[in-house]
Order: sequence, then structure tokens, then C-alpha cells
Amino acid sequence: MSLTLIINVVYIVASIMFIFGLKMLSSPATARRGNLLSAGGMGLAVIVTLVDQNIIEYQWIVAGIIIGTIIGVASARLIEMTAMPEMVALLNGSGGLASLLLGWSEYQRNFDIVAFSAFVIALTALIGGVTFSGSIIAWGKLSGKLDGKPVLFSGQQVVNAGLLLAILVCTIIFALNPANGLVIFIVLIVLALILGVMSVIPIGGADMPVVIALLNSYSGLAACAAGFVIENNLLIVAGALVGASGIILTNIMCKAMNRSLANVLFSGFGSVVATSSGAQGEQGEARPISAEDTYPILEAAVSVVVVPGYGLAVAQAQHTARELGELLEENGADVKYAVHPVAGRMPGHMNVLLAEANVPYDQLVEMDDINPIMETVDVCMVVGANDVVNPAAREDETSPLYGMPIINVDKARTVIVLKRSLGVGFAGVQNPLFFKDNTRMLLGDAKASIQNLVREFKES
Ligand code: NDP
Repeated sequence: MSLTLIINVVYIVASIMFIFGLKMLSSPATARRGNLLSAGGMGLAVIVTLVDQNIIEYQWIVAGIIIGTIIGVASARLIEMTAMPEMVALLNGSGGLASLLLGWSEYQRNFDIVAFSAFVIALTALIGGVTFSGSIIAWGKLSGKLDGKPVLFSGQQVVNAGLLLAILVCTIIFALNPANGLVIFIVLIVLALILGVMSVIPIGGADMPVVIALLNSYSGLAACAAGFVIENNLLIVAGALVGASGIILTNIMCKAMNRSLANVLFSGFGSVVATSSGAQGEQGEARPISAEDTYPILEAAVSVVVVPGYGLAVAQAQHTARELGELLEENGADVKYAVHPVAGRMPGHMNVLLAEANVPYDQLVEMDDINPIMETVDVCMVVGANDVVNPAAREDETSPLYGMPIINVDKARTVIVLKRSLGVGFAGVQNPLFFKDNTRMLLGDAKASIQNLVREFKES
């Protein structure tokens, strides 16, 4: 068997491992093994790629692997769960930059290429460049290093259309005459970087998760194009898988927010929030409650639904929440955890936290399954969630959140909201839930509040 054949057979095995790994990621019960399987496939692919005879020297590769491993392990261990979206943005950006550099180096290696190769190199640099600069802006916005509000100015669409046109013209000129195309190639890269910035600055607020998913998809497409440039089948397959899964996730998230992708990309959602009449202002009197007074309500409850949100991650309250859930069950209550698709700051954020705290998978319910039975729920405990339980999304046509599907916690018999203040959530929109007759506010850090409830249960 020739080496090329062996490499390609291993690539097919790795591709199958990726596909099954991705499939396993769709359930919390199998997600860890799915991740390992995909990582194993990638490890296998890297090893056989390294035996490829086209590699002339190994020292830079070894140095890259060592540095990359140190950065990867350190960042995975050190980065807080709440900073995951920023980390994903950086990883997407790195993928984009890698593809951009690959396109650049392939062109430097040989200026004398056919039009198709030049076109593919231009595409790699273009998508890689857009992904890189777009991801850096997304990272800045999510980490608070840049203002998270959308940046909108008059004539923005015209500028973007002009940019796209210029990129198209540069790509054609470069593809037709790559031998003398260095300057035009550099211009193309600069325009791609500007386009990345221009496409992310008008997006802000609660739309950022969608952008992260979209940039993830772009990074896959950039890798796929890079695969064509260096004629590596596995890179083409892996890139296509990332590209496709990213766009599917983008679509799922748009649906969860009841928005079209075009609306997310071009509407400047965050600026609407800032100016909307429905977004600001107190709406009545909230009724605070203490842990001591919450205890009898929970003690008498037959069904309790916990709705976690971003505050659960900030407070790191998942373990105490599970402990309280167990005490409620021992007390005879039916306990469920209802997870909204965009709760937290990244897709699956709540599922990851609850899995980490060993909450049984069969107690997790999705929004569409809990909403129809919400009227029968005795107590809904909202733990650090805000936007995803905001009834204005259902009732107030002037609210910027209007139309976004929410978990209808306000329809439960009693709602206990655990948060530190009456402050707004990620979208900056006031929440009328806090002022409803059946709502009580258990104010304070979510972990401390739940610990107090646990103590009440244990001491009585
Ligand atoms: P929100 O951001 O709407 O609200 C979180 C709430 O948690 C805040 O109002 C805050 O209130 C409270 N909180 C913060 N720290 C604590 C603490 N230590 N203890 C108790 N409460 C705390 O979160 P949701 O999960 O409801 O909604 C997610 C939002 O984020 C949506 O708008 C979504 O679109 C967006 N988003 C989602 C992403 C995803 O992929 N899931 C990614 C990026 C954004 P207070 O300060 O008063 O305590």
C-alpha cells in the first residue's frame, strides 16, 4: 500500500470520527465522549499528516505544537466559564488567521500559478481575513474591551457594498494575473480585514451569540478553502463540517430569538434597545422575599422548575442548586431544570454547568416542553436568568425583545427570582416579571441565596 493511500484511509477514518463525535455532542449524556472522539480523530489526522513526505523539516512544526499545546492547556484551565464566548471568539479568529497565513505562504512559495489556484488562494485569504478581524472585534465586545453597542452610521450599507465590490474586483484581477499580483493580493487582504470589522461592528447586545456561531462557520469555510489550496482532503472535510455545523447553529439560535439572520446582521439591535420606550423605566413595585420566607413556599411545593441563566454561571451556583434540588426531591417535589437555548453566554452554557454539577440529564427540559405545562408548576425558581424569562418578549410590542420565545415562568403559580438587584440583563431591557403579583425577589448573590435555602431545609 502506498503512503498516500494509507494517509487517505486514515483521513477517512478521522472524518468518520469527526462526524460521530459531532453527533454525540448533541446530547449531554454523550457530549464528553463525542468531544474525545473528535479530538482523537484530529490527533490521528495530525500524526499521519506529519509522516507526509512533503514535509522538509520538523523543527518549526515541533515548536508550534509545543507552544500551541501550552497555550491551549493553560487557557482551557484558566479561563472562567463565563469568559467562554470570548475564548471561542479568539479560537475562531485563530482559525481564520491560520487560513489567511496559509494562503499567503502558498502564494509566496510560488507566484506562477494557474487562475483556479490563485482564485482559491484569494478565497482562503479573504474568508480567513474576515473571520480573523471579525472575531477580534467580537472578542473585544464580549470581553468589554470594546463598547458592546452596535456601531451604526449613515451610508454604512453603501460602504459595505463598496467594500464587497472592491474585493470582487481585486479577486478577479488577482486570479487572472497572479504572477504580478502581489500588490493586489495585499490590498485584498487589507480589504478582507476591514470587511470583518465592518460586518461585526453593527451587531451588539443579545445578538453577539449568533455572530460567534456565524464566525465559527466562517472559520470552517476558511479551513475548507485552505484544504483546497494545499490539496488536503481532511482539511476540506473538517472545514466543511465546521462550516455546516456553524451555520446550522446560527440558524437554531436565530429561531430561538425569533429573528432572521439578516435582521441580526443588519438591524443594529442594541441601539434599538437603548432608545426604545419599552426598554427602560420601572414598571411597578417589586416584592422582596427572604430565604426564611421562601422556605415554606418551597417546602409546600409539589413541582419546582429551576430556570438557570447567566447569573448562575457568575455566581457558580450550579452545585448548590443541585443540592437544593435533591433536598426538594427528598421532600417529595418533582424537580426540573428548564434550559432556554440562549441562556447564559454561549450555546449549551447552562447544560455544561448543570452537567458539571451532576444534575441528572432526565431532569433537564427544553423550553418547548416546559411552556405548555407551566400553569401546573407550583414554584419557578429563576436563578440569575433575566432576558430569557422576560414576558415583555411575549406581551409588549414596543419591547426590543418582542417576538423572542421565552420560558413563560410568569405563568407558574409562584415565581422566585434570584438575582442581586432589579437591574437589566444582557439586552439592557427592563423586566416586567419582577413586578408581577406572583413574583417574589430573593435578592443577593445566587449561590449565597441558595445556600441559605439549603440551610433552611437542613435545619428544619
Ligand atoms: P441575562 O444576561 O439576561 O441576565 C443575567 C442576570 O443574572 C442579570 O440580570 C444579573 O442581574 C444576574 N446576575 C449576575 N450575577 C449574578 C449573581 N452573582 N447572582 C445572581 N444573579 C446574578 O441572562 P439570561 O441567561 O437570561 O439571558 C442570556 C442573554 O445573553 C440573552 O440576551 C442572550 O441573547 C445573550 N447571550 C447569549 C449567548 C448564548 O449563546 N447563550 C451568548 C451571548 C449573549 P443582577 O445584576 O441584578 O444580579
